[in-house]
Amino acid sequence: MILFKKAKDLNNWITLRRKNGATIGFIPTMGALHEGHISLISTSKKTDSVTICSIFVNPAQFNNQQDFDKYPISIEKDIELLEQSGCDVLFIPSFLEIYPNGINQSKNYEIGDLENILEGKYRPGHFQGVCMVVHRLLEIIPADHLYLGQKDYQQCKIIATLIDLVSLNTKPSIIICPTLREKDGLAMSSRNRRLNEKERDAAPTLFNTLNWIKNNISKGSLITLNNKAQNMLMAAGFKTDYIVIAYANTLSSINDWDGDHKIVALVAATLNEVRLIDNLPLN
Ligand code: AMP
Repeated sequence: MILFKKAKDLNNWITLRRKNGATIGFIPTMGALHEGHISLISTSKKTDSVTICSIFVNPAQFNNQQDFDKYPISIEKDIELLEQSGCDVLFIPSFLEIYPNGINQSKNYEIGDLENILEGKYRPGHFQGVCMVVHRLLEIIPADHLYLGQKDYQQCKIIATLIDLVSLNTKPSIIICPTLREKDGLAMSSRNRRLNEKERDAAPTLFNTLNWIKNNISKGSLITLNNKAQNMLMAAGFKTDYIVIAYANTLSSINDWDGDHKIVALVAATLNEVRLIDNLPLN
């Protein structure tokens, strides 16, 4: 695996490889890698001749300084995992490689309603920060395919909107990969490392609740179903930011289902200090 720290060096290297006919698969991450991340690398390796992973904990997407400070970092272990996965290139930029002029607070991507609902409502500015870093990374890394995890369902929609919105020499196609889970259903996440034993035992209730919704949903009013789901989370010790059933495309929430539209259940909830998210397509 080749390791790049400088944007210019990586961009020159890719330009040469593309001239020689290589296709580029790109997986942006914030490190603290787990099997979920590695599944994206494996999927890229099946399609693209060159697979590139980036690790950058992006300060612009954290609305909470404490959350940023506590974000787990395990770069040596990450490199080991990436080597084992057969990843071709790792990009580990410094802050200045990504933001040469600092974070431009006045920059605003017109990403529409998706920006302010669900994660956007509870993490103001989060998706602008995501857009900033992904835009910059795609300028440095002209990729054919961008591999994203369905675990971050709303983020996938935001990035698709961003790619339509901005001008890039190469616009990647987005490949959305399934959420990898622990045996008990908990979605793999870098944040799971911060759960103590008791919290870890309670954490699968998040997925169990989504599954319960999936098994019990029927057309008509969803209000009782939703209330019961909220109670299940509360009983397990979660403080729930949201648990909603939403249209799969727009993510606008829905109280009455026609039994036909594609819908998804999305949840964000905190166990003491650790905020977890998950989602499940319902039909
Ligand atoms: P992160 O490092 O959390 O920014 O995630 C980097 C990429 O990995 C994103 O596209 C995530 O959606 C994806 N990802 C994170 N967790 C999982 C998982 N459990 N299964 C599949 N993809 C994941």
